[in-house]
Amino acid sequence: MGLAIGSGQNYRGWMSSDEQYPGDLDRALIEKMSLAEVEEVLSSGLEIDTASVTFLPPFVGSSKMICVGLNYVDHSAETGFKVPDYPTVFPRFPSSLIGHLAPIIKPVSSDQLDYEGEVAVVLLQGGRYIPQSEALSHVLGYSIFNDASVRDFQLRTPQWTIGKNFDGTGAFGPSLVTADELPAGAAGLSITTRLNGAVVQKANTNDLVFSVAKLISDLSQTMTLEPGDAIITGTPAGVGAGRKPPLWMKDGDVCEVEVEGIGVLRNTVRNEQANGRLGSNETGGRVVEHS
Ligand code: MG
Repeated sequence: MGLAIGSGQNYRGWMSSDEQYPGDLDRALIEKMSLAEVEEVLSSGLEIDTASVTFLPPFVGSSKMICVGLNYVDHSAETGFKVPDYPTVFPRFPSSLIGHLAPIIKPVSSDQLDYEGEVAVVLLQGGRYIPQSEALSHVLGYSIFNDASVRDFQLRTPQWTIGKNFDGTGAFGPSLVTADELPAGAAGLSITTRLNGAVVQKANTNDLVFSVAKLISDLSQTMTLEPGDAIITGTPAGVGAGRKPPLWMKDGDVCEVEVEGIGVLRNTVRNEQANGRLGSNETGGRVVEHS
């Protein structure tokens, strides 16, 4: 494991085997050191060739990952939902997360795997009853998220959680961009999702129904937000489920989410290997059931 800081082609950092390694980018680190201190330690580190590393999700161990649904007007329209007057939220569990370039897993149990390009927010400071006017000072940074969704499972019940938590469906990264590098609240950034190179979603973060500041403030009215908590801000129109006919991701597809000023999150879709099971729906092989 390692941690690096930089931009463009220039990254420096340390591996966990190095004495100077400050720790993983997690709650313990952001509570132990200021961003300036982390920057100083990493900047004196080894040159890192990002072409030769395995990307992990850029922040680990959030006590809460809160995803927001229906947060772009045109996405509500395409999915047949009313634009909400209060944020629609559901959790993402860490077991669903993958990093940049890791495969998004199409589960054996569904053919309705959809993409959702989104901006992710990670908090530096938590709190309760955070005023909207102060909310952005709580942000550590921003990243990119592909909230890949298994639609038939998502819509089996009024709660979407189950369709949003399949293993290997929460793509997160490639890096965390500190808040000072971006417009306040990551507003005014273009967000684009491409499937096999074709643009399938294109929007601007100005079109969020609930801004980053409003989300932090609203969520903190009900729960204590903690350092490292993440808010995944919702996806614009263009999802596969909103198309006629629907467009589902399949084995070999390459999905990219690009957010201006943050980067490009790229993942290839792979069929789930039926771990522990004999046969799969790809081969029509035998499935052994035991109870
Ligand atoms: Mg989403």
